[in-house]
Amino acid sequence: MSIQYVCRYCGHHIGEIDKEEVSEENLGFHKLTYEERVHMITYKDNGDIQANVICEHCQEAVDRNPELLLQSSILQ
Ligand SMILES: [Zn+2]
Repeated sequence: MSIQYVCRYCGHHIGEIDKEEVSEENLGFHKLTYEERVHMITYKDNGDIQANVICEHCQEAVDRNPELLLQSSILQ
């Protein structure tokens, strides 16, 4: 079982953590609202967790063009 960090915008695989080493509390997941959890965290059938975050590249793009964020949320 592992937690995979994937960019929600470009699908870039950012990193992976072995789940034995961390708890949801360590990751700060418990601080998220229910809605944020639903959008950010995907529980896969095999027990893995996918965290849908934003990679550096897309963060930069959104910082430069905040309307990109709006567009992608409309497309989803
Ligand atoms: Zn990205």
